[in-house]
Amino acid sequence: MTMANLRNSLSSLSLKELTSPSKHTLIVFPFRSQIMSSTSRNSNPDQLCLHKMVHQVPGLDSKETNSIVEQIFDKYTSKNVKRNGKGIAIVWFRNDLRVLDNEALYKAWISSEMVLPVYCVDPRLFNATYNFGFPKTGALRAQFLMECLADLRKNLMNRGLNLLIQHGEPEEIIPSLAKSFGAHTVDQVYAQKETCSEELNVERLVRKGLQQVVLSVQSKDSSRICPKLQLIWGTTLYHLDDIPFSPSTIPDAVEAKCTVRGCIRVPTSLGPAPGVGDWGCVPSTEQLGLQSQKASLYVSRGMKFMGGESAAVGRAHEYFWKKARLNSHHFPTYARSIMQLLILNVTSDIDSYIHLQDLLRVYKETRNGMLGPDYSTKFSPWLASGSLSPRYIYEEVKRYERERHANDSTYWVLFELIWRDYFRFISVKYGNSIFHLGGPRKLEYKWSQDQKLFESWRDGCTGYPLIDANMKELSATGFMSNRGRQIVCSFLVRDMGIDWRMGAEWFETLLLDYDPCSNYGNWTYGAGVGNDPREDRYFSIPKQAQTYDPEGEYVAYWLPELQALPKERRNFPGKSYIEQVVPLKHGKMNSQTSQNTPLNGRRNNFRVNRR
Ligand SMILES: Cc1cc2nc3c(=O)[nH]c(=O)nc-3n(C[C@H](O)[C@H](O)[C@H](O)COP(=O)(O)OP(=O)(O)OC[C@H]3O[C@@H](n4cnc5c(N)ncnc54)[C@H](O)[C@@H]3O)c2cc1C
Repeated sequence: MTMANLRNSLSSLSLKELTSPSKHTLIVFPFRSQIMSSTSRNSNPDQLCLHKMVHQVPGLDSKETNSIVEQIFDKYTSKNVKRNGKGIAIVWFRNDLRVLDNEALYKAWISSEMVLPVYCVDPRLFNATYNFGFPKTGALRAQFLMECLADLRKNLMNRGLNLLIQHGEPEEIIPSLAKSFGAHTVDQVYAQKETCSEELNVERLVRKGLQQVVLSVQSKDSSRICPKLQLIWGTTLYHLDDIPFSPSTIPDAVEAKCTVRGCIRVPTSLGPAPGVGDWGCVPSTEQLGLQSQKASLYVSRGMKFMGGESAAVGRAHEYFWKKARLNSHHFPTYARSIMQLLILNVTSDIDSYIHLQDLLRVYKETRNGMLGPDYSTKFSPWLASGSLSPRYIYEEVKRYERERHANDSTYWVLFELIWRDYFRFISVKYGNSIFHLGGPRKLEYKWSQDQKLFESWRDGCTGYPLIDANMKELSATGFMSNRGRQIVCSFLVRDMGIDWRMGAEWFETLLLDYDPCSNYGNWTYGAGVGNDPREDRYFSIPKQAQTYDPEGEYVAYWLPELQALPKERRNFPGKSYIEQVVPLKHGKMNSQTSQNTPLNGRRNNFRVNRR
């Protein structure tokens, strides 16, 4: 649809039509692939716009994604990078599944004549969680990971390389590759440094395995030379070496005063690729032993994330530069939703017709939302798999500030990334205590492990719509908003008194963006055993519902049985919904209740230095 057509279509729509649409109104504008099925079966306007949609994230088609990726790769390519090493260097890909701004890949390339990129599909990733035996990687994250691998392979191939995919433990595979590729040529293995115990253990074993591989090149003093594991810091916005304290002395309240390093430029070609007979296949979910979870792979509602660096770059493009949001709070909900649908694919020309705002420009106001793909960046799944570099996000935010607008919202995206960094550095400081019941503060509370209560939380059957809707979203999509995560965490630990690690491990199973530092860091924080000095971080459900879902749109989306209720009752359905499994610790589930609970003050100790 051209801009002119769209403008004509818009001007022919009266507000009345928007608020009481005929079937025809929707069918006139069928340009979102997100509308999954016929709108005609549904007569309720709210149902029309909410219940028939799966949002693919990013919402770009493959042609557009490819063209953006090409532009960005061009921008981050340098013809001046020279290599000056000898032999083959192995790049052992871990949670850094990207080509752009990947220091391990870059260092391997400049210090060798040939790079062998490898990913080990480690069966331990698909075992069980540590304490409670939940699947360690749920089907949706497994699928996301496989999409990341396929895309990484594609992007490496576009640069003259490939990705060797092997099934097994890295401590077996990496040394054996070093051996079979000729002990005289492989002298370095490059990988991204991790910080938590399971990953550190694998690093230790790989290093040990490499010590058994003897290079045929002799040192001057005839001592044995083995291939070395070079671990490169690469997950955070701020480089570990640049923060103004050692991780072990990182203060619990931090003012960050350091600069962000620039993204690394990639050479035009990463080839030549070493001769490998069989590069291996990206495994299917069956091959990963996840047949029993296959049904959960079908996302029929909510957000469907696409794995891989290309999708990540596409999402950054769409969030920063392409999508806009209608700024018209006075519009009725349905009108707003229809207008949102209309504007998703159009340029800023439409600003002259209605007031649109870039998503980044209003991030700070929208970031506590729960419904739809655009209230927050949704970068986390790609950040966790390393398909997206936080430094790339930083550079794009800075570019946006130069080219369009700088405000609190642009600053706040970076602020959130620094939270991510913070939990990473905290994992170095506190080690395994972030996984322990007493947390870094070694606090002793009496926790319950009541299975029935836990299952009601896990399955979204607590009788509290806000909890149930969030838990259903998590199971159906592998994602939950930050607001939702804080609410369900508070409910599990404060209202139910359940061992917080059960919640953390369930998140570990399901989250597409699962990252041990952010997950366990946030859970210890929410459970009051983290390094947060404020003890009782209680989130009152009535207050949260009134503030963040006043019209019950979110709960009605995930709990269709509530759609028939008046909007103000959807979060407070009383007997019209299932029975509540526990009473609330503070306050009653009455829509008139005004809670006086400590909701604010989060993060007031932690500030980023604005430069
Ligand atoms: C109990 C609990 C568990 C969590 N588990 C994880 C997890 O396993 N992995 C994960 O990436 N995030 C986790 N978070 C943090 C946060 O909820 C998600 O990062 C965020 O919701 C992702 O959505 P977004 O990318 O749209 O975030 P945005 O609001 O757009 O923020 C941008 C980026 O900042 C980072 N960020 C934002 N908030 C936090 C935070 N509180 N802690 C750390 N980083 C943050 C993320 O990388 C995010 O992508 C958890 C939060 C809670 C309360």
